[in-house]
Parts: sequence; C-alpha cells; structure tokens
Amino acid sequence: MLAKFGQIGSKRRLGSILVLLVILPAVFFSVYEFSTLSASEELIAEVYRQQLDVVLFSLNQYSWDVANSWANAIDEILSPNPTTEKERASLLASFLRDNAAIQGLFIAYEGSHSPRIYGPALGSAQPPRLSPAEISAALANESALISRLRELKATGYRKIDPIFITEADGTRSLALVFISGGEEGKPHVIGMVLDAERFVTENLARKMDEAAGDNFLLSVNRKNFGDVVYATGDMGRVEDRQTKDLWLFADHSVAIRMKGTTVEDVVRSRFYRNLALIGLLSIVLIAGVWVVYRTVRREVELAQLKADFVSNVSHEIKTPLALIRMVGETLQMKRVTSEKKKQDYYDTIVQESERLTRLINNILSFSRMEAGKKDYHLQPTDVHELVTGVLKHYQTHLEHEGFTVQTDLDRRVPRILADHGAVSEAIVNIIDNAVKYSRQERFLRVSTGVGGSSVFVDIEDHGIGIEQDQQTKIFEKFYRVSTGLTHDTKGTGLGLTLVRHIMDAHHGSVTVRSVVGKGSTFRLSFPTHT
Ligand code: ADP
Repeated sequence: MLAKFGQIGSKRRLGSILVLLVILPAVFFSVYEFSTLSASEELIAEVYRQQLDVVLFSLNQYSWDVANSWANAIDEILSPNPTTEKERASLLASFLRDNAAIQGLFIAYEGSHSPRIYGPALGSAQPPRLSPAEISAALANESALISRLRELKATGYRKIDPIFITEADGTRSLALVFISGGEEGKPHVIGMVLDAERFVTENLARKMDEAAGDNFLLSVNRKNFGDVVYATGDMGRVEDRQTKDLWLFADHSVAIRMKGTTVEDVVRSRFYRNLALIGLLSIVLIAGVWVVYRTVRREVELAQLKADFVSNVSHEIKTPLALIRMVGETLQMKRVTSEKKKQDYYDTIVQESERLTRLINNILSFSRMEAGKKDYHLQPTDVHELVTGVLKHYQTHLEHEGFTVQTDLDRRVPRILADHGAVSEAIVNIIDNAVKYSRQERFLRVSTGVGGSSVFVDIEDHGIGIEQDQQTKIFEKFYRVSTGLTHDTKGTGLGLTLVRHIMDAHHGSVTVRSVVGKGSTFRLSFPTHT
C-alpha cells in the first residue's frame, strides 16, 4: 500500500516536472514576446515622432518663408516710393490677386483709431467680413505682442506672429501681423488675414507631397472639426497616425503615417505569427511530454509489476511444494492407513505437481516469447477434438475443485490451422483462471462454433468478473487486477499475456466479456482456412 502511494506521488511529481519544463519556457517566451512587441511599438512611435518633427519643421519653415516673402512685398509697396495713395492701393490689389491665400490686409497706423482695410474679402460682401472695430479689438487684445513686435522692429528684426480676430458671430480669422515702416513716419501694424485652407491647398500641398516622399502619408486637418484639408493619400485608420500642431495655423494639425503596410502591421503580424508558433510548439511539446510521461509511467508500473511478479512466483512455487512435501512425508512415515486417504494424497501430489508444471511451463513459455523464440507449428487441427481432449484431461481436476462443467461443442466446425500444444496451453490458462477467480458459484461452460469467418471457443465462468476499465489491461504482461476480490488470489500475471501471444501467432484474437460479480466469458477466435 505504501509502495503504491509512493508510486502515485512520484508519478505526479514526474508529471508536474515535465509540465513545468514545457509550460515555463512557453510562458517566458510569450511574456518576452509581449514586452518586445511594446518595445517595438515604442520604437516605431519614436521613428514617427522624429519623422514628424522633421516634416513639421520643413512645413513650418516653408510657411514662414512664404509669410516673409509676402511681408517683404508689402513692405516694398508701403515704402515711400509710390507716392500716391491710389497707386499704393492698386499695387496692393494686384498683390492680393496674385496671392489668393491672403483674404485681405489691414494697416493700423499708430495713433489712428480705425485700421485701413484692403482686399476683396475684407469689408466686402464676402465672408469673412472683418470690420475695423473687430480688428481694433483684436489688436488691443494682443497689445503685449504688438509692443514686443515693435521693440524687435526697433532693433531691426521684423517678426511675424499669428493672431486670431473674432467676429461678431464667433468665427475666428487668422491674421499674420508684423510691423512695417518706421523709416519715415511712424511704424504701423500690418495684418495679413489668411484663408488657412487655401494656404494649405495652394501653398503647402506641393511641399507636403515632397516631404511625404514614397514612404509616408501626410495630411493637414482642422483640429476643431477633425476634417482633412489636404492629404497626400488615404490616411487610413486614426490609430495608425501621429499628429502635431502647425505653428502658424495653430488650429490645424499635421498627421503622418507609413504608406502601405505599416511597421505596426508588420510587427503585429510577426507577433501573432510567433504567438501561433509558440502555441503550436507548446502543443507538440505537451504531446511529447505526454508520450514521455506515459512511457515512463508504464516503465515505473512495469518495474512494480515485475517486483510483484517475483514475490507472486515464489509464493506460487512454495505453496504446492509445501503441500507435496507434507503429503509425501505423511505417506513416507506410513501414518495413513486407509486406502481412500492414501488415494487422496496421491491425487494431491499429482495435482500439485501438475500445477507446478503448468506454472513453470508458463514462465518458460513467457521467457521464450519475450526472447522471440517461441515457435508455433501450425497444422490443420480439429477444434472439437482439441477442446474435448483438454476438457477430458482437466475433468478430474475441475470436479475436485467443485466445478459444474457444461459443454456446447459444435462438431461441424471446420478445421483450423493451429499449433495443438499452444492452443491447449491457451485454453488451459483460461480454465485455470476460471478456477482461480470463481467463488461460491463454480460453473464452467465451454462452447465452440462458427461466427462470421472465424471459429470460436468460448470459456464462460460465473466468477468474480472483471471491471470494464481493466478488461484490456489484463492481457498486458505481469498485469494483475489489484482492486476488488482478486487481492487474495496469487498469480503471475503472465497467463493471459501468453494467451494473447498464442492467438496473435494464429492470426486470431482473444476477447473478454465480463460483468463484475456475474462472471466472464473469454473468446478465442481463429480464422477459418478453406
Ligand atoms: P494471473 O491469473 O496469474 O494473475 P493472468 O494473466 O492469467 O494472470 O490474468 C491477469 C488478471 O486478469 C488476473 O490477475 C485477474 O485479475 C484477471 N482475470 C483473469 N481471468 C479472470 C477471470 N476468469 N475472472 C476474473 N478475473 C480474471
């Protein structure tokens, strides 16, 4: 019992070690994969960020360059050269025509209350209709910025800055303001009111196409509305992009993503591929572990069965030997006077030595079988004759054991190709088991017949029966049922192994039908040879 517990414990330990050996590396690898995935994604995000910074820098720079060139042109027009106001207005009008992204201009003279407005969209019926009051209010709002621009201008640096002018209905217009003049007269604030969308599509688009190149996609979006003003191509899913604000058009942002399959897609698909591979590998490993576990478990069981076998065989030999010796000595000392008693003693000696012979024959047969040296000489054999012969030989033994023997033998069964001795050995082993594993109801029925294309020999007993899950195991070498009523019956666990081997050699089979407590029927099936 203790040994059994030890065995179960060690089997469990072995199982857990093997499972750990597989599961741990798989878990480690999966965790590693997850961490590299996020690392790769961070790396990609970093690449995007850097690329976006470069693109953004060049777009912003370009916007400033455009704004600067406009400011230069306006400076030029406002310089004292064109003397008349009319001339100046016509120059400004043509400048505005050439640069459609500028909706209009305003000039706020120092000291003057109301700025002067130029341009078709300003003060006209076209929206936005910025009024001088709205412009003044915006400039007053940004007075700090304006004075800073003035200071810078005084040092010789003309800086351009964006401001927003809010209209009565709440819409905001973007104006780039700078300080002009001042050489003669007072410096004044110039504002270029921009149509941001037009600037993007007409001025920035070319630059964006250039910056995007073959690998990236770029778009400028309105931040508040989320719509695209211009895109170099289909930007795809929002998650695949990175965005940053434009300096000049603060209410617009630039988005970037990879063209075609994104690096994320590649990384993600590689990740899922790896994960699938790990899964597959784990399944293969688990299957391998299972096979190893089963093999090792079988070996452990076999070792245990072999150990049991030695003790069983010693017992099996000792019992009849002791009986023979005791009966022999009694006879030797001439203590038995009655002839009937003497006869009983002689019978015991014969039966016990027969039992010993059977046991030793079984062991020898088994060792020959294991060494692959058990030979079979198959020749046409009359099954009826063979079975009746065996039964006749065992009749006294069975009667002595208190058995009722019933036969149902079909004389007409065709001859089979068989090794007479081996088949007798198989039948004897099964009968022997019927004797060993029967209790009160000692009944044996042997029948023969033809079923399909085979000849069968059925041996039925009303013994203890065999549990369903044990019914295949009993044919394994050394295997003995260790539960239920078999406990107290000694045996070697070789009998049915030999039967199976013999039947295999005859290209036949041995099967069992059994109900615990009711009995068992073993069937030997032989192919018919016509
Ligand atoms: P042994 O009888 O020496 O133990 P066998 O190989 O002949 O070895 O049988 C294997 C096991 O099958 C037995 O230990 C027993 O538990 C079970 N068995 C065999 N025949 C019978 C039977 N007729 N009734 C019940 N159990 C049986």
